Amino acid sequence: MDNAAFRKNAHELADWMADYLDGMEKYPVKPTIRPGDIKQLLPQEAPPSGESFTEIFSDFQKIIIPGMTHWQHPQFFAYFPTGASEPSILAEMLTATLGAQCMIWQTSPAAEELEERMMEWLREMKGLPSHFTGVIQDSSSSSTLVAMLTAREKKTNFAINARGFSKLDKFRIYTSTQAHSSVDKAVKIAGFGIDNLVKVAVDTDFAMETDALENAIQQDIASGYVPLCVVATIGTTSSTAIDPIEKIGLICKKYGCWLHIDASYAGTALLLPEMRWMGEGTELADSYVFNPHKWMFTNFDCSAYFVADKASLIKTFSILPEYLKTPEDQLVNNYRDWGIPLGRRFRALKLWFVIRTYGISGLQEKIREHLAFANWLKNRIALHPSFEIMAPVPLNLVCFRWKPTGIEEEAQLDKLNQQLLERLNASGKILLTQTRLNDRYVIRFVAGQTHTRLEHVMKGWQIITNEAQELAKSLS
Ligand SMILES: *Cc1c(COP(=O)(O)O)cnc(C)c1O
Repeated sequence: MDNAAFRKNAHELADWMADYLDGMEKYPVKPTIRPGDIKQLLPQEAPPSGESFTEIFSDFQKIIIPGMTHWQHPQFFAYFPTGASEPSILAEMLTATLGAQCMIWQTSPAAEELEERMMEWLREMKGLPSHFTGVIQDSSSSSTLVAMLTAREKKTNFAINARGFSKLDKFRIYTSTQAHSSVDKAVKIAGFGIDNLVKVAVDTDFAMETDALENAIQQDIASGYVPLCVVATIGTTSSTAIDPIEKIGLICKKYGCWLHIDASYAGTALLLPEMRWMGEGTELADSYVFNPHKWMFTNFDCSAYFVADKASLIKTFSILPEYLKTPEDQLVNNYRDWGIPLGRRFRALKLWFVIRTYGISGLQEKIREHLAFANWLKNRIALHPSFEIMAPVPLNLVCFRWKPTGIEEEAQLDKLNQQLLERLNASGKILLTQTRLNDRYVIRFVAGQTHTRLEHVMKGWQIITNEAQELAKSLS
């Protein structure tokens, strides 16, 4: 593709992109296709010779688009949202155009220094402790793994990096029963063994029971284990429950445990002064992660990871082969030493574009709107005779279930709610996901998409009540 063709194609794509964002509602949120449908439309062999952009782009529209789940659809209420916004998309275009590898300062000085500044901005915007230093990781999963590896090395004076595990290393990791599966994954990868992950009980709000945590730690010490790390969550995936950070932090200090805070989704709400209570005690933490790529209108991937002790992080991950040595090594941040991959995308650029375009007040306004949407929905559900709220709603996730009058049996309610969810999702008008709370099947409704407005939430609620009515009719 020569430069003239690139220019022409880029203009055409820009038009398509703007039309897509503007006309999203004409698409079903989730396609009605079966496994294998798309693959079957793709030739078995790669093309022997080059094809025209017109053909490729036409296939994108014909084959790919009908097979996509439209995450930016304003009636996508499933999972947690994945961030995107116009300024973020534009920055991603520039990042791709620069095609830079941002592993060390020398390979992209502006990218490194912009990342430093963006992490400082985020720390201040969220009221995080001033002794925290930030770095962008690809995901929360990686960040949590990085936290555990650093905790492991700091505790053993970097012995496991040097010599591997010894028979004497009997570490325990603690998290609540509601923690994200990435904690389990990190425990496995870091070599602790999943049997050494202690799942601490939660209270009626699904937040970690600190007495149960302390009991577990004391019992483990008595049995010869070393309590290494506690992962606390601000905003669990099932119900956005908030662990009591300050109490957990004090227990961690008492027993010499690393405290890692997983605020992957809910961390964005700390932009609001009225939500800062969630983070009280964060100054006791050793590490903290939140994903601008979830609720802060920034495209995947962009996970903001903060640490109290930057030196231990770097000592855990640093490598310095001859071919990577540079004269500035002592003066700058070489982010290859702050995480797992060597190569890194230029991810700070989209944060810069997003934060500058919205401004702090613009971001706050959108987050407040999302909280108000959830509050509106929560009140509707609470007032409805055949629906019930299944968990507290501190943020913008509402956990509820359908409970038609006369039906009391739990197993039957589980089945009915599963049927209702399947019908709703098959309609293509709305997308929701489920979870289990107190072993009951629960429907999750997250109002956090960039382009979701109150009217979409209202429409969503209408679709849910209509579909429940239809289902009830078919049962009687
Ligand atoms: C989404 C989520 C994760 C995983 O985030 P990735 O960036 O996809 O790895 C971890 N913890 C919580 C609480 C989450 O909501």
